[in-house]
Amino acid sequence: MIAPHGGKLTDRVLCCSALEDAKKAAASLPQITVDYDTARDAQNIARGVFSPIEGFVGKADLDSICTKNCLTSGVAWTIPIMLDVSDPDGIEAGKDVCLMREGSAEPLAIMHVSEVFQWDKESCAKAVFGTDDMAHPGVKGYSQKGDWLVAGEIDLIDNDRGPYADYNLFPAETRKVFEERGWATCCAFQTRNVPHAGHETMQKMVLGLFDGLFIQPIIGKKKPGDFQDAAILKAYQTIIEKYFNPERVFLNILPTEMRYAGPKEAIMHAIMRKNYGATHIIIGRDHAGVGNYYGEEEAIEMFDKPEFADLEIKPVNIRGDFWYCTTCAAVASNRTCPHGKDSQIPFSGTLIRNGIVNGVAPDARIMRPEVFEVIRSFENPFVD
Ligand SMILES: [Zn+2]
Repeated sequence: MIAPHGGKLTDRVLCCSALEDAKKAAASLPQITVDYDTARDAQNIARGVFSPIEGFVGKADLDSICTKNCLTSGVAWTIPIMLDVSDPDGIEAGKDVCLMREGSAEPLAIMHVSEVFQWDKESCAKAVFGTDDMAHPGVKGYSQKGDWLVAGEIDLIDNDRGPYADYNLFPAETRKVFEERGWATCCAFQTRNVPHAGHETMQKMVLGLFDGLFIQPIIGKKKPGDFQDAAILKAYQTIIEKYFNPERVFLNILPTEMRYAGPKEAIMHAIMRKNYGATHIIIGRDHAGVGNYYGEEEAIEMFDKPEFADLEIKPVNIRGDFWYCTTCAAVASNRTCPHGKDSQIPFSGTLIRNGIVNGVAPDARIMRPEVFEVIRSFENPFVD
């Protein structure tokens, strides 16, 4: 089994008497209310998804991440996990605060504040996203954050698994599953889409190379027009049930936001999957990219940098432009198929989307009819 990133799986989920004590203590602590994404970051820290970190980023680690792609300990890290506030009044280093989730009256976590500091949003955004263009959603997001960062380790009180509990196993639990199944190698597939035949072909190619396939859709805040979480999950449940060998595939969500940081996010996607127990991860073209900010191969090339030599989880790059070829009578690519345009049925996201909107099933060679039916069964499968 591959070791967790940094050697040890973080576990800061409170239970039993410690949990009861924390709930009581929380009532009298100063509070910081955090948004949905920050709340999930806190849960991910405590559950080991972000191992080896144990809390929200401090100044020295932030500088190190931005300039050297690693934590001060030397462990590779590319995107800081931050807790920002606009008003640091009442938050003091050395004291505890209670994190509250926006819109909830229940305490989320106790945070042991180690530092409160102002941060340079612009230079930080430039380092993470490689641009200071405000049209980039990540850069814009940083600019809208508070001027102060609060650092410190957290102890999680609210460990609710959320709406897809059966598909939200934590890293220690997926590791156990992979071990029980005897998977020496396991390839993760990152997705934020419903599966079409091109995805299915790629996933099944992987099963010729590795013991297991770990399909892990990112569940959480998305752009309007993207597929809803429930539609993505249900579509995968359906296709796996009917067309995959159940002993070789495992479906589990990753509840975190897309940050659209391209190559640096590809590294984080790999680190998180390593913590879940994957030994390999498919890195797609323009992985985690947005607009034209990153080169098509930039994410995969990132893994060759010397600072990521010890990453252990390996990127898998399946090359080619894929389509369905009517002459090959199979999913084919520019690397495999000698036939011309007349034989090609493209995997067009727009065509599939229009088909769903208009109730016209895409060609069955492009999308499984069962997958189409499941998506169609949602009143609105898209994010508003
Ligand atoms: Zn062909």
